[in-house]
Amino acid sequence: MIAYVHPEAAAAAALPCWSPVEALDAAALHALQTARLQQQMAWLWARSPFYRRKLGAAGLGPDSVCEPADLARVPFTTKQELRDSLRAAPPFGEHLAADAADVIQMQASSGTTGSPSYVALTRQDAAMWQESSARSLFACGIRPGDRVLHGFSMSKGFVGGLPIFQALQYLGALDIPIGADGGVERLLAAAFDLQPQAIVGTPNFLLHLAEAAQELLGRDVREIGVRRLVVGGEPGGGIPALRQRIQEAWNAPLCELMGGTDLAVIYWAECQHQAGMHMTAPDFIVTELIDPVSGEPKPFDEGATGELVYSAIHRQASPVLRFRSGDHVVVTGTRCACGRRQPMIRCFGRTDDMLIVRGVNLFPSAVQDLVEAMRPTLSGQVRVIADFEGHSTQANLKLLVERAQNEPAGLSLPALKQEIEQRVRGALAVKAEVLLAPHGSIDKPGAAKVKLVWRELPFIEGLQ
Ligand SMILES: [Zn+2]
Repeated sequence: MIAYVHPEAAAAAALPCWSPVEALDAAALHALQTARLQQQMAWLWARSPFYRRKLGAAGLGPDSVCEPADLARVPFTTKQELRDSLRAAPPFGEHLAADAADVIQMQASSGTTGSPSYVALTRQDAAMWQESSARSLFACGIRPGDRVLHGFSMSKGFVGGLPIFQALQYLGALDIPIGADGGVERLLAAAFDLQPQAIVGTPNFLLHLAEAAQELLGRDVREIGVRRLVVGGEPGGGIPALRQRIQEAWNAPLCELMGGTDLAVIYWAECQHQAGMHMTAPDFIVTELIDPVSGEPKPFDEGATGELVYSAIHRQASPVLRFRSGDHVVVTGTRCACGRRQPMIRCFGRTDDMLIVRGVNLFPSAVQDLVEAMRPTLSGQVRVIADFEGHSTQANLKLLVERAQNEPAGLSLPALKQEIEQRVRGALAVKAEVLLAPHGSIDKPGAAKVKLVWRELPFIEGLQ
């Protein structure tokens, strides 16, 4: 039975974490994950034609995976395989492992990498999603009783919409369900009228809201007295210069969270120490870090980088095993004063965003980081112009960089271009070719996620 609000939500306000699972030591967690994994494997073997076939083809049987370390023997599951499975057996694919009659909720992925895909939830799955998301929102500083302005998209079936609403309600907080698609003016009106303690949304959108309040209403969002900014959906919250700008604009600390549609809504979240995101659902998901090229697992040591791979261990309807998330992260630490025992990470890009420029791997968020740091000489807006087939080019990296509204007097544009090119070369080891666009010619972020990569250069008057 799913309660709207967790019966002990109010009492949780004083605790260091929402769930004691977040603070389990390694031995206790291993025991819990092992028991859950065995149940999950038995469930898959009995109910998932997709995994029975996949495990069988790899020479694995129902008892081949007994503890988390055994997962290394299981072949990866890719997004493409899930898409094919959905097409082969609509509506929820051959990997649906529950009776259709037990499915009580569905969500859609944003389809940034192709056609949208759909996931199914049973009652237990929906309860798990609420629990893991509530832990994450709690880690980010949202407390029972808070009013929370909903700045993620509320539409299209995305997990940033209804599932976040459900998780906030379960946590005992009040969601103000306007959504990014409700429009900037409506969101700002609700913010000034209802004085939320927290806001959730993409980092670029929260920054845009603060700027729009000034431009449209002549008001400063700092009047609202927001206590916490909670961002996700794109890597911007982890970009130091952008984070600082958003925190200053709202006069509130910013915490990041991360998740996805395939495993749950949110299962990574930054605590008040702001040192990277902790895994908040280790009893629902086994997480591995792998080398993205060789596929070999790596330990979560401080400074290690790699791609995250997830296995569901408490899922009924749409479970996945060794799912390649495409999220590339760096481990920022393994100890934290908040009491959570899971390592901390930052995400610096997705496989789909990665470009290979003359053999050098490059994530657009790294370019954004550099351009942000050149404010106020620049506006901070940049787009990578990837006007070539696929993800790899032998040409220079083409960057469209927006000029600032109030440029310093005597600014030399050729010198400015050269400086950006030098910084890119110094930090990212690629040769850039910079085009300067007049202020206001790159769209401000709206309800949609910011696309840092454009496939062609549009006509822009006054391009230098
Ligand atoms: Zn912490």
